Amino acid sequence: MARVLAPLKSAVKTPVERVRTRHKPVGRPARPRVVVVGAGFAGLNAVRELARGGALVALVDPRPYSTFQPLIYQVATAGINAGDVAYPLRAFAGKYPSVRVRVARLSNLHLDDKWVELADGTAIDYDYLVLATGVTTNWFGIEGAREHAMPMYSIRDAVTLRERMMRCLEETAEAKRPGTHVVVVGGGPTGVETAGVLAELRRHTIPLTHSEIKPEQTSVTLVERLDYVLAPYKPRLRDAAADALRKRGVNLRLGSTVTAVEPDAVILDDGTRLHSDVTIWAPGVIAPKEVADCGLPQGKGGRVVVTEALNLEEHPEVFVAGDLALPPQPLPQVAQPAIQMGKHVGRQILAAAQGRPVQPFSYRDPGIMAIVGRAEAVIQLPNGATMHGLLPWLVWIFVHIAYLLSGRNRITVLNDFFWRYLGPRHSAAPVAE
Ligand SMILES: Cc1cc2nc3c(=O)[nH]c(=O)nc-3n(C[C@H](O)[C@H](O)[C@H](O)COP(=O)(O)OP(=O)(O)OC[C@H]3O[C@@H](n4cnc5c(N)ncnc54)[C@H](O)[C@@H]3O)c2cc1C
Repeated sequence: MARVLAPLKSAVKTPVERVRTRHKPVGRPARPRVVVVGAGFAGLNAVRELARGGALVALVDPRPYSTFQPLIYQVATAGINAGDVAYPLRAFAGKYPSVRVRVARLSNLHLDDKWVELADGTAIDYDYLVLATGVTTNWFGIEGAREHAMPMYSIRDAVTLRERMMRCLEETAEAKRPGTHVVVVGGGPTGVETAGVLAELRRHTIPLTHSEIKPEQTSVTLVERLDYVLAPYKPRLRDAAADALRKRGVNLRLGSTVTAVEPDAVILDDGTRLHSDVTIWAPGVIAPKEVADCGLPQGKGGRVVVTEALNLEEHPEVFVAGDLALPPQPLPQVAQPAIQMGKHVGRQILAAAQGRPVQPFSYRDPGIMAIVGRAEAVIQLPNGATMHGLLPWLVWIFVHIAYLLSGRNRITVLNDFFWRYLGPRHSAAPVAE
C-alpha cells in the first residue's frame, strides 16, 4: 500500500498522512478502494466478500485482533483463556493479497470528500466505506455506574473482571473481607449467561477450591428492569430461564431498576441497597461516541439509520453493517444479522463498482439461543418452536465452536468446555491468567 503525504484539508487543523490504496482510479475504478471500519462479525464478512471480488480493502480496527464476543463471559468467569476468543487480523488479512490492516481507531468521517480520519493522525481515501464498529456499553447516565460497575464488552473488560473476582475470593478466604457478593445488572442473554455460570461456580466449585468460604459468604443476584429475563424470547423460555437461574441459587430481582451504583452497593428504585463486592454491568448497548460524533443519521440506541440496501440515503457509497446498523426492519443485535449484513454489503459494493444496482438486504433468521448453565440452554426457532434443556445446550456448544474463527481456537475451547462442564468439579477452579 503506497503512502503519500497530501496537502492539508482546510477543515483539518493538524497534518494528516494520507494513505492511498495501490490504484489511483480514473472514472469508475476497476478495483474499488474500500475502507472497512471494525473487524467484528460484520466487518470480517464484508472484507472476505470484497477480497474475493478483487476489491482493494483497508481494514481498520483499534485492536490487532477480532474478538468473539459471545464467549467473553466465559473468559470473565475463567472458563476459557483470553486468547481463545481472539483472532489475529493479520492472520486473516494474510489470506487475501488485496487486504491491508490498519490498527487504529476511526476518529472522524469526511463523507463529502470520501476519506476517513484516524485517531493516530492518518487518513485513508475510499471509493466505498463500510462502518461496522459495533456498539459499546451503555451506562444510561446512571450515577456511579461507569465508576463502580464492570462492563463486559472487550477482552480487557473480561480479564479485569476475572481478576477482580479472583482477588475478592482470595481476600474472603483469607478473612480480609466478609464475603464475595456479585450483582449482575441486566437480564438479557449476557446477564443471564454470566449469572448462571457464576452461580454454578459458587455452588459446586468454590466449596472445593476455597473451602474456607462459607456458602452465606457468597451470592449472585441478577437485577432486571422488566418483569422477566431474556426479553427477545417467548414467555415459556423466559420462565424456563428464570426457573433454571433460581434452581442454581441466583437471587432474581425482576421489575427493579438500578438508580445508582456505589463502590460496594447497587441502589434500586424502591430504595433497596444491595451489597455488592463486584457489580457486573450488562443492561444495554449504545453506538460508540466517535460514530455518534460524526453526524450520521441515528435512531434508537444510537444505531445508524440505513436504507433497505444498508447504505446511507445521502451517501449511497457508505454502508453500515452489524450492531451499528438500523435498517427499516430493525434486527436483533446478535451475531447472525451482523454476519449476513457484512456479506450483503460486500456483495453490494462489488455490484455498485460494476455499475449494477444495489439490492435490499433480506435476513434469513436461523433462530436465537442462550445458555443458562450446565445442560441448560434455550432455543427459539424462526417458526416459533421453542426448546430448553440438554439438547439446546449441546446445540449451543456446537454452534459456538463452529462459529469460532480459527481451527486452533476451536480445539482449545472444546477442551476448556470439557473441563468446565464435564470434568471433575474442582477442575472448573476459577484462576486468574
Ligand atoms: C458479552 C456479549 C455476549 C454476547 N453473546 C452473544 C451470543 O451468545 N450470541 C449472539 O449471536 N450474539 C451475542 N452477542 C452479540 C454479538 O457479539 C454482536 O451482535 C456482534 O459481535 C456484532 O457484530 P459487529 O460486527 O456488528 O460488531 P463487533 O463484533 O462488536 O465488532 C466491532 C469491531 O469494531 C471495532 N471498533 C469499535 N470502534 C471502532 C472505531 N472507532 N474505529 C475502528 N474500529 C472500531 C471494535 O474493536 C470491534 O472489533 C454478545 C455480545 C456481548 C458483548
